[in-house]
Amino acid sequence: MGDPGCDNDGVSPTPAQQAQAARIAAGLAATGFALPGTLTERMTRCGHPGCRCHADPPRLHGPYHQWTRKIAGKTVTRILTDDQLADYQPQISGSECGARR
Ligand SMILES: [Zn+2]
Repeated sequence: MGDPGCDNDGVSPTPAQQAQAARIAAGLAATGFALPGTLTERMTRCGHPGCRCHADPPRLHGPYHQWTRKIAGKTVTRILTDDQLADYQPQISGSECGARR
């Protein structure tokens, strides 16, 4: 038997539930769980003449994992190492690469 005076279960969160949700969201933000931006992969040439990337046909280096995001209206680009990619990729919204292993 339920409590006859309480029929609004699940209708709206209580202040305590809202506070908990806010705490969880803040915790996720603090751990960098959801990062803005997009991941792209690009091939590059290095500065060494005679390297395979300057051969004919060229064999470019990469792909490098490039994380692009906007900070205060400016586009910021960062190249991620494989380790960083493994850490960041699940957290970057806009990434549709999925798991590789
Ligand atoms: Zn090269």
